[in-house]
Amino acid sequence: MIRKKFIAGNWKMNKTAADGAALTAEILAAIGRETAVDVVLCPPYTALESVGRALEGQSVKLGAQNMHPEKNGAFTGEISAEMLRSLFVSYVILGHSERRTMFGDTDAFVNKKTLAALANQLKPILCVGETLAEREGGATLAVVQRQLEGGLAGVTAEQLASVVIAYEPVWAIGTGKVATTAQAQEVHAYIRELLTKLYGAPLAQKVRILYGGSMKPANAPELLAQKDIDGGLIGGAALEAKSFVELVKAAILAS
Ligand code: PEP
Repeated sequence: MIRKKFIAGNWKMNKTAADGAALTAEILAAIGRETAVDVVLCPPYTALESVGRALEGQSVKLGAQNMHPEKNGAFTGEISAEMLRSLFVSYVILGHSERRTMFGDTDAFVNKKTLAALANQLKPILCVGETLAEREGGATLAVVQRQLEGGLAGVTAEQLASVVIAYEPVWAIGTGKVATTAQAQEVHAYIRELLTKLYGAPLAQKVRILYGGSMKPANAPELLAQKDIDGGLIGGAALEAKSFVELVKAAILAS
């Protein structure tokens, strides 16, 4: 089973609408209409429209970094799936560790968002991953299992085809400490085993599982060569065209 590699840039709270459009233009100039790898840019909400416009007619897709599960209403500061769809957003990052630790996203809330995204034709990039204390306490696999099963509760086999999973060890995010390839592959294989138990092997083999956590052009080739690592969710290295494009090229080479 060949899974198409997938590279997503999570810009977090960086780039104005104008800066985002300029970065997008630089990336597109370097990779053109690349189709060997799926590429997604996830700017902040305020740059979705300008980046979306820059992506018109291109193969690179637009993603958001979060959303609220309700359709509309009194949720000051929040954005719904329908609002994202109206800006031609295709993917949405859900359950990022920064949302979980700084903004109180629980597994149950992430699950509501996942179901709402899927009901609105948005493809979730569902993030799971352990903290350093959890890893040192031997709880990595249990934490990943809880977050994965919690996030996917009620997701049908048919819907699973639209879901991308990102394994992001919290201790490796933005710290420069990348998980070793063996550490990453072990958890990726475990995630695929869990998906196999939940949905059966044929579907589990189709799901892309991304690694996230200080992925850079220097460490990407080795990570992307692992059997169950199907791409990357990139933070810091997605903020400059040069490093992001190198990561896309590494994914093409690993395909
Ligand atoms: C992220 O936040 O999703 C991430 C992987 O960040 P970084 O690449 O900067 O570690």
